Amino acid sequence: MSTTHTTCPYCGVGCGVLATPQPGGSVQIAGDPDHLANFGRLCSKGSALGETLSLDGRLLHPEIADHRVTWEQALDHVANGFMSAIREHGPQSVAIYGSGQLLTEDYYVANKLMKGFIGSGNIDTNSRLCMASSVAGHKRAFGSDTVPGNYEDLEQADLIVLVGSNLGWCHPVLYQRIVAARTARPGMKVVLVDPRRTVSADIAELHLPISPDGDSALFVGLLAYLDHLGVTDSNYISAYTKGFEAALLTAEDWTVERVAAATGLSPLSITRFYDLFARTKKVVTVYSQGVNQSASGTDKVNAIINCHLAMGRLGKPGMGPFSVTGQPNAMGGREVGGLANMLAAHMDFTPEAIDRVSRFWNAPAIAQAPGFKAVDLFAAMTRGEIKAVWIMATNPVDSMPEADAVRAALKACPLVVVSDMNRHTDTMDLAHVRLPAAGWGEKDGTVTNSERRISRQRPFLALPGEARPDWWIIKEVAHRLGHAAAFDYGGPGEIFAEHAALSAFENHGTRDFDLSGLVGADYDSLAPTQWPVRAKPAARLFGDGKFFTPDGKARFLPIQPPPPFAPVPGSFILNTGRVRDHWHTMTRTGKAARLSAHMAEPFVEIHPADADALGIRRASLVRLSNRHGSALVRALITDRQQRGHLFAPMHWTDQFASNGRIDALVSAKVDPVSSQPALKMAQAHAEPI
Ligand code: SF4
Repeated sequence: MSTTHTTCPYCGVGCGVLATPQPGGSVQIAGDPDHLANFGRLCSKGSALGETLSLDGRLLHPEIADHRVTWEQALDHVANGFMSAIREHGPQSVAIYGSGQLLTEDYYVANKLMKGFIGSGNIDTNSRLCMASSVAGHKRAFGSDTVPGNYEDLEQADLIVLVGSNLGWCHPVLYQRIVAARTARPGMKVVLVDPRRTVSADIAELHLPISPDGDSALFVGLLAYLDHLGVTDSNYISAYTKGFEAALLTAEDWTVERVAAATGLSPLSITRFYDLFARTKKVVTVYSQGVNQSASGTDKVNAIINCHLAMGRLGKPGMGPFSVTGQPNAMGGREVGGLANMLAAHMDFTPEAIDRVSRFWNAPAIAQAPGFKAVDLFAAMTRGEIKAVWIMATNPVDSMPEADAVRAALKACPLVVVSDMNRHTDTMDLAHVRLPAAGWGEKDGTVTNSERRISRQRPFLALPGEARPDWWIIKEVAHRLGHAAAFDYGGPGEIFAEHAALSAFENHGTRDFDLSGLVGADYDSLAPTQWPVRAKPAARLFGDGKFFTPDGKARFLPIQPPPPFAPVPGSFILNTGRVRDHWHTMTRTGKAARLSAHMAEPFVEIHPADADALGIRRASLVRLSNRHGSALVRALITDRQQRGHLFAPMHWTDQFASNGRIDALVSAKVDPVSSQPALKMAQAHAEPI
């Protein structure tokens, strides 16, 4: 049987996968030894991919109002619904809500349709829940949304600082690479900054169980400490950056004692961390959702980047700030402009970029301004401003904050279209029109991982029933909206070629995202490739100290940490996150029995003393509740949890467990810069049942 080289559909590590269909219909899965993300490794989720390919639960035919219809009828219905909403209420009355599970080609066509031809900025995605604060932090510091590092940097570093990242469970292959590097070089050190003692603490010399949202204070204090020690790199600061003095002025009062008060950490452990950071040259700071999913997420990102800029530790082997993306293609979505505040190819809504992109697309009605971002989008729906929404490959009824309110918003929306693989999800169940989308193993396109590496996802299974790729579905609706010429695509290769050409169009080295070296490349044989891919290959990003700000200098940001978090008396701090063997709302991993065996039910981790005080026994049922909602979960009593803190995973949905939706308890508070919701933390009461 022939083997297909493809890419894992789960996390942002983006591992290469070899898929070999077997005579009996099963598919053998192995890690791709030649893929530079994983060198043959796979985690538990990746290695169980072959067990998730059954057609059980698949949506195989288009439906309108619960009745099977033809594709013609479904596509006409969607186009007519969108057209009449636009005619009666204007282009801002329609929206697309997409996903980091879409392939770049799907994303490109959806973004082009909404921004270029419908003329609205209303396309946002679940990447807003994942990476928006990193995007905003990168742009403030570098003038571009650029992750500066490579995975090899993690192996070459002498100190890795994991901030708000349980890499051991959430990016397991990257974690395995660090473990292997540490075994080879025992001097390599790891510091974990996380309120919970997660499995990632197992490789850490130092675990800092920080208070919620204490990260900015920790890194602002570090900047002041480095300056007091006199170890900052003044040559680098003066040659390649701006704003150091202002950032320092804000930081200078942040003594170790003040940081201790703001973070709940001991002065001794803070000093240990600061000294390690100060005296180790090769430092990589890895951060993820504990940083991003916060009401001060963008400031946290810039507080981290400030420290790397101050030491000149960026754009060099084994050092730099490193945001690891949660989703398989959050990065690819950002590349095409698939966020409501971005236009296309890493260009914003500036007059110059609007003109450039409208000429490239030949799109006279191009949107002139950003649209609704995720939380605002569903709020606008609640107010009746959105008349038609198209949700693609995501399940916001479970994954959005205040998830019950999102469910109510969708119930009130006159036209809800959902494209997905599954006939039943909590979101699909509210759809007026159901469109059967192709899934992993059937789809053809590209994804970009956390180190900016573009890899092909290739099909090795036939399309089941009447399922179709997302790009095809969007293209067909675009044709019916009167835009056939602009959406005359014969396949994903043509879309990728246009995407690459747009990235190169009038790009005079002023934009980071540049695929000019891939224009005309053979799509079918495209090897995993890190961008930028310029016609004339450039040196390592930022290695020359040149950034994408107007004057080419990186920016320090003066960061004012938020006041210490004060929980409501009598309630717990509820930390949310993931487990090792499930992915998002379990629509794929829920099919593999061995993955569900790891953690079979929704649960809450609680400290033994707190459990005792509340009369909660091991494995008993616990109700978590607050003014937004409630969830019923199983007690997991563990001293990995701090007193007064709880942890509950976000995976379970009404489909898999009655009343287990944790995001129903999270408030819709957002970061003021990035509009990323503060999904990491809620406050909740716990009571035994
Ligand atoms: Fe897939 Fe991520 Fe596991 Fe790699 S680490 S196999 S990309 S889930």
